[in-house]
Amino acid sequence: ARRPVVAANWKMHKSLGETRDFLRAFLPMVAGARDREILVAPPFTALALAAELVRGSNVAIAAQNMHPEEKGAFTGEVSPIMLSDLGVRWVIVGHSERRHVFGEGDDFVAAKVRSALDHGLRPILCIGETLEERDAGATLSVLERQLAAALAGIPGPDLAGLVVAYEPVWAIGTGRTATTAQVQEAHRSVREWFAGAFDSSIAGEIRILYGGSVKPGNVDALMALDDVDGVLVGGASLEADSFSRIVNFRP
Ligand code: 13P
Repeated sequence: ARRPVVAANWKMHKSLGETRDFLRAFLPMVAGARDREILVAPPFTALALAAELVRGSNVAIAAQNMHPEEKGAFTGEVSPIMLSDLGVRWVIVGHSERRHVFGEGDDFVAAKVRSALDHGLRPILCIGETLEERDAGATLSVLERQLAAALAGIPGPDLAGLVVAYEPVWAIGTGRTATTAQVQEAHRSVREWFAGAFDSSIAGEIRILYGGSVKPGNVDALMALDDVDGVLVGGASLEADSFSRIVNFRP
């Protein structure tokens, strides 16, 4: 059985004080949830504080992005070594806002995946089609292209550290969740892609999260789908009460 992953992506939200308030309220609310992996991805400025506050708890901290190089003249960037140094063990890679707002291409995303794995960080690789691509019937081919590009040359055994997040761009921050049929179809095809590109045991083990307007009211239906192994939550992860209700979804 694949252990569910419930992840918060705070995006560009929360000061240090707000991070502290959230975690103080949130940690006791989810302390009983031992059968699932719980991740919180604060902005870079709050990573050190968050990593310290969750120590010894069942919550782990993820970064929202990283640069693939260890160090160098990359003004404004953060390296995998800097993240590990803080006790961060996970990193979101290829989020649609990185791809579409900041122009990151498949090759740059691939370099980040490789670098994260090389440095012992577990990448949450985000993939997903735009509305235009979905309307053109290109959804599955876009997902396959993004997977093939991001994972080219990575040896199968290294994928044990990887989680995939399917986030249809048109469902992010729009209140418009994909239908359960659309989600299951995309997740199934992602799993099949792993079976073809690697093997059926890797395909059976890889965890595929859904992201895009996940809320306490729709998480149970999403988590009930065969190929949904978790959720990546933006807006509804900003309040401890709402995110704890998502974490405590009914299995
Ligand atoms: P929302 O949950 O706000 O739609 O954001 C989803 C997302 O992008 C998580 O990474």
